Amino acid sequence: MAKLLFKDVNKVYPNGYHAVHDFNMEIGDGEFICLVGDSGCGKSTTLRMIAGLEDITSGEFYIDGKLANQMSSRDRGIAMVFQSYALYPHLTVYENLAFGLTLEGIDADVIEEKVQATAKILGLTDYLERFPRALSGGQCQRVAVGRALIRKVNIFLMDEPLSNLDAKQRVTMRSEIKQIHRSVGATTIYVTHDQTEAMTMSDRIVVMKSGGYVQQIGTPFELYFYPKNLFVAGFIGEPPMNFIRGTVENGRLKASRLEIDLAPIVKDVTALEGKKAVFAFRPEAIKLNSTEKCYKLSSKVELTELLGDTTNVYATIGEEEDRVNIILKVNPHHTPEMGAKFDFVVPYTSSYVFDAETGLVVETDIVRH
Ligand code: ADP
Repeated sequence: MAKLLFKDVNKVYPNGYHAVHDFNMEIGDGEFICLVGDSGCGKSTTLRMIAGLEDITSGEFYIDGKLANQMSSRDRGIAMVFQSYALYPHLTVYENLAFGLTLEGIDADVIEEKVQATAKILGLTDYLERFPRALSGGQCQRVAVGRALIRKVNIFLMDEPLSNLDAKQRVTMRSEIKQIHRSVGATTIYVTHDQTEAMTMSDRIVVMKSGGYVQQIGTPFELYFYPKNLFVAGFIGEPPMNFIRGTVENGRLKASRLEIDLAPIVKDVTALEGKKAVFAFRPEAIKLNSTEKCYKLSSKVELTELLGDTTNVYATIGEEEDRVNIILKVNPHHTPEMGAKFDFVVPYTSSYVFDAETGLVVETDIVRH
């Protein structure tokens, strides 16, 4: 296991592109961290700097308290799993797993023992004599993880390891990787653009935005219930959070012929006076009615999508050019008719307000659960 520390780490590529801005983070022994964000936001660049495959342009990067900016990849105690499994097609699963150890000149007996132990963890024991072409995508990915796992390392780096798998295999491998992490305990940094993957696997998540800017670092719970800004609020959660934009007048957000009284939830509503703001709530936070304190909203159903356990309702609030599109999750037994009026409530405890100019969340007294 290893501790990592980033102090104002920046990456500027030789062509002048500034891919990572002031990355600051402390990662504890054995933590599972996901870097998540849209394509091009600097996730792989960050991972490659940890691996020593890219130079750090400025700032400091420490492994277990040792400055590692100039440390060679070999000395960092890392193993990396890529999106493309990069297996040797002419070698069997056994030989693929053993490859790195053979190169290091380790005794055949020791290799045999390690290959068998690794194969057992990954459920590959029956496939050791097969060639990669005779394996499914999920099995290939397991071999790739196995090749990293077999080398006793302190840090695991994974770059979109599941993106070549189909949806079902991804779900299976997600829990397998978590279980492996639990049993091996190596500090793991995992890159993905898939927020569900990040939410289900991580101890903590780093949300990055294009241009290489870190937006928020926190546990899945913190990011879901306490997003710091509009970007994180919109990125985490599926379907995404609903945003109703308007202007604050007399403590009320005026938008799309709606008036939402912000005073009951916002700490200092006078600070918002005259400003553009965003009222927000998650699709799954709505209720048909409630004894809690709530905002009452009315919408028109445009389309419904029955998913089985839930129905997604695509609706609009307001009229014509003022119309706002929203998505609501409802119990499938209460699926409304398309074209119908649909009234619902949003509990204060599930309501958010953002400053539209800065994008930052506005402070409230609400305890969310
Ligand atoms: P992500 O992993 O989040 O998709 P990357 O870290 O791969 O993003 O890339 C971040 C940005 O840096 C992208 O805009 C990409 O085009 C740019 N980039 C990556 N590698 C290089 C390079 N060698 N030279 C210049 N720009 C690069």
